[in-house]
Amino acid sequence: MSVWAILVAAGRGERLGLDRPKAFANLGEEPLLAEPLRRLDACPWVDAIVLVAPPGWEEPAILLAEEEGCGKVRACVPGGEERSDSVRAGLADVADDALVILVHDAARPLVTDDVIERVLAPLSEGWDGAVPGLPVGDTLKRVGGDGGVEETVPREGLWAVQTPQAFAADALRRGLLSDNLSQATDCAGHVEAAGGRVKVVPGDPRLLKVTTAADLERVAEMLQ
Ligand code: C5P
Repeated sequence: MSVWAILVAAGRGERLGLDRPKAFANLGEEPLLAEPLRRLDACPWVDAIVLVAPPGWEEPAILLAEEEGCGKVRACVPGGEERSDSVRAGLADVADDALVILVHDAARPLVTDDVIERVLAPLSEGWDGAVPGLPVGDTLKRVGGDGGVEETVPREGLWAVQTPQAFAADALRRGLLSDNLSQATDCAGHVEAAGGRVKVVPGDPRLLKVTTAADLERVAEMLQ
């Protein structure tokens, strides 16, 4: 089966407070984007990659892919306003005959072959999608605008979901290209809203998403 990966790296990353997009923040000596790109390119399960760069940063993204010798990159396209717009931009360059599409956040640099294998496996059992997740450990409360607790939400059965997320290509296209798009914040949510069956498999705490400078430091430490 041919597996295409869409690596979304078009976020602005405002909470990092830098003069450049998050994908080009320094992780050690390199731009953050280098790590997940190299890992996806080296993954034996991935056949081809579409890179979604911050608008105006396509050229440096292509140069980086070349410098890293990432031969699986087939296209580099500018992202959109929302994450789902960026995934849709990447989807337009995925080959029509792709059977499986993996969507990964560049902001989660420490992707491994093991987690990719775990999300791909359910697709051959008939699932439309599979996502890595970790059971929620903290107590959850819904809080109103004045800081008052409105509700304590039972956490049983609740999972925090990460990327990479894997989908049967037609299920992802149905989820993302339908006219009445859901308000989902991840691709799986769009696939679910279009009637797709999505399975959660064990994720990995190292797949933390870089949002703040402290997250960048944590990822850099994990790389040592
Ligand atoms: O903004 P957030 O951290 O949730 O973004 C998750 C991932 O989606 C990041 O890798 C980011 O670069 C990407 N993204 C994107 N286009 C957007 C917003 C986010 O490619 N408009």
